[in-house]
Amino acid sequence: MNSDRFDRQQKTTRLHLAMESEDVLSRIRELPGRCGSMEYFETRLLDFSRGELPPTSNKRLGTMCVQVPEELLHAMGASSIRLCDGSYAFDQVGAEFMPAKSCPLTRATLGKLHINQDFWADKLDAIVVPTTCDQKRKMAESLTAMGYPVITLEIPATRDTELAVAYWQESVKRFALQVQDITGVKLTRKKLKEAIALNGESSRLFRQLQKFQQAEKPQLYGVDMFLVMSCYFIDEQASWQKAVRALLAECEGRPVDKQVGRAKSPRIVFTGSPAIFPNLKTPLLIEESGGLIVGDECCSSSRILYDAVAYDEDQLYDMVPAVADRYMKPCTCPCFTPNDNRTRKINELLDTCKAEGLIYQSLSGCLPYELEQRPVSEAVSESAGPMLFVETDYSPEDVGQLSTRVEAFLESIQNRRRKTT
Ligand code: SF4
Ligand code: SF4
Repeated sequence: MNSDRFDRQQKTTRLHLAMESEDVLSRIRELPGRCGSMEYFETRLLDFSRGELPPTSNKRLGTMCVQVPEELLHAMGASSIRLCDGSYAFDQVGAEFMPAKSCPLTRATLGKLHINQDFWADKLDAIVVPTTCDQKRKMAESLTAMGYPVITLEIPATRDTELAVAYWQESVKRFALQVQDITGVKLTRKKLKEAIALNGESSRLFRQLQKFQQAEKPQLYGVDMFLVMSCYFIDEQASWQKAVRALLAECEGRPVDKQVGRAKSPRIVFTGSPAIFPNLKTPLLIEESGGLIVGDECCSSSRILYDAVAYDEDQLYDMVPAVADRYMKPCTCPCFTPNDNRTRKINELLDTCKAEGLIYQSLSGCLPYELEQRPVSEAVSESAGPMLFVETDYSPEDVGQLSTRVEAFLESIQNRRRKTT
């Protein structure tokens, strides 16, 4: 592509991204009864879409998956930023050089790093790509071809064998050495303990937020939880924690009879391919149509901070394996096989949240999630409520059809409720 055309495409993409981000936020702001403290997260995400990153003097590593052990990066003096992208503007750029059947998340992420290469090349010291699904694996090659330094984090395809556990432990140790080479900071017991404590605090705050989302009268919308967690991708942890504390204080101070959404809104658990700002299409349609997402099982939201590192002795030989365990043992990503844990977790979530239905999103081209929809639907039909499976992408074209299906599903939950009461 000649440089004039590239410059024009860059300007148009930036404009479209800004419009897309503003548009989704203005729709979210229309939802009644939201907490005012959500403004911090909205502003951070908008700033990010305009190219503003939190200032840091640390080395900065981009990550491509929730399975990258953050504590190790932070303990060795690196800032991390999750690069998985939800923008249709970037998806369109990526579509120019990615196969039509690739998932929009991969296309958008590569599109962003391609069209804004002048910006990111300067800001990233390396990008960590996990060997999870085929598309992530191949993404490492595309990024290398673009000139980015890439660290491949090798993840086994199963979690349950001794061999897989040993492989993952070795992989994490190797990863730690690679990060150490980049930052020049040695991993010590003290620094790792501090990093684990910092993430542990984020995890504690997140679980408190979850209580307000899951409450009988929820104080937080599901889309707000997605905003909070999309912000966690890009923010410095200390600033994020401060904003979450303010949000918690607001939730705590609200009158007990107040809630978001409507009284008796159908209570939904959301699962499937990650919903990442600004692509909150399905979650937003659910809540605009009168449903409430009271819980989710997504690696772009509740799976990020649900689990904390647990170790017995504060020695490196105990803490590093504990960090590795925290990222693999509880992970319910469908890239693992077998993955019975996921159906168990979803059923637990439906139960804890007193949910009345499950909405399962698969992004077009995302085979791991599409393949698991059948076992999940079979496991769920035996317990709580019905399940709606939707396949979608980042384009606005299917909004009308998706909205009709979501509304009909919510209506069926209300009919069911009427029959049983
Ligand atoms: S779906 Fe799985 S592989 Fe993809 S980002 Fe989430 S946890 Fe990682
Ligand atoms: S797990 Fe699905 S959404 Fe994530 S990168 Fe792979 S194909 Fe895309």
